[in-house]
Amino acid sequence: MLSPSLEDYLEEIYRLSQSGQSIRVTDIAACLTVSLPSVTRALQKLNESQYIHYRPYKDIVLTNKGKELGHFLVERNRIIREFLRLIGSQCDVAAEAEAMEHYLSLPTVTAIINFVKFTEQHPSWLDDFRKYSKG
Ligand code: CA
Repeated sequence: MLSPSLEDYLEEIYRLSQSGQSIRVTDIAACLTVSLPSVTRALQKLNESQYIHYRPYKDIVLTNKGKELGHFLVERNRIIREFLRLIGSQCDVAAEAEAMEHYLSLPTVTAIINFVKFTEQHPSWLDDFRKYSKG
């Protein structure tokens, strides 16, 4: 199990890896608004846990284990944001998803994924819900 902070690092590394370009420490620091030494420490921990291959001044490479968890973390964030939009929450969706994602159990994340898929397949149900929510 990764700490919430390390989950965010891996999530961002996976997101950056999707662009196909090499991932730089400065890019990660910019995305997460953290200092370069913090990024380096996190990269060392992720390297020790074999989520990435990391050597100073070399490209950061995700292992298969890192890709798998990274993909899950990016999807989890996306689906929670989608969920918050679907239920019509007037919150700051990105910030709320960041806060929620680390504290939900896997069964709850799975249930939310089902809920989001269900509403996508049943748009009329969602229309009824939105009318109801407006009161
Ligand atoms: Ca996150």
